[in-house]
Amino acid sequence: MTTIASNLQAVRTAIASAAEDYGRAEHDIELLAVSKNFPANAIRAAYHAGQRRFAENYAQEALDKMTALGDLPLEWHFIGPLQSNKTRAIAEHFVWVHSVDRLKVAERLSAQRPEGLPPLQVCLQVNISDEASKSGVIPAQADELALRIALLPRLTLRGLMAIPAPGADFAAQRSAFAALRSLRDRLNQQGLQLDTLSMGMSHDYRAAIAEGATMVRIGTAIFGERTRHENSSIPESTGDTKPV
Ligand SMILES: *Cc1c(COP(=O)(O)O)cnc(C)c1O
Repeated sequence: MTTIASNLQAVRTAIASAAEDYGRAEHDIELLAVSKNFPANAIRAAYHAGQRRFAENYAQEALDKMTALGDLPLEWHFIGPLQSNKTRAIAEHFVWVHSVDRLKVAERLSAQRPEGLPPLQVCLQVNISDEASKSGVIPAQADELALRIALLPRLTLRGLMAIPAPGADFAAQRSAFAALRSLRDRLNQQGLQLDTLSMGMSHDYRAAIAEGATMVRIGTAIFGERTRHENSSIPESTGDTKPV
């Protein structure tokens, strides 16, 4: 068995045990394998170990891998910072976008989503605890933005995503995720139908599952530590998501 296959099996087992511990149905928690900074052959290994959903942070890096993996039926999720000049490529090639945090990019994604494809599934990224981060709408402005995004014709607003500040202990992790869940409940009381909480990464997914995560985004625990390559064409994180 490859390292990636055994890592994946360990992560699946840990998700199942967290689900059991916190009274969740295992099938309500989807695993996204976050493959940023890892090459196409790592994704191929994960595919052969049964993984179908992959998440990427950088449009060009992702497109290159999609081309290399065009023979596989993979589901691609975009989770990185959204730049206006990249929205067309994202609208054309991804099934989900988790990092929508302003109306302008949401409008562009909707306008650029090809007619022949189903609506783009999106989450609103909320800045729940990490004041230092530039990404994510603040909770006080989330309601108005969510209600506007929900009206865009070529998007389906599915839920909320957050990347809480790292380093918190388990109780603090839980309270950040609980805040995202109550924001989702508040939006649903205003008539939205949000079924998705995209929360939980390698270091905090148990806490996220305890608080209702429906998608966990896991990179390091599957693919290993990300390293910086000086001459790589792969861009480094912009700071929103610290390399572990
Ligand atoms: C990199 C990244 C992840 C995965 O983080 P790990 O700690 O490697 O599991 C999840 N979500 C987002 C938005 C990321 O940028």
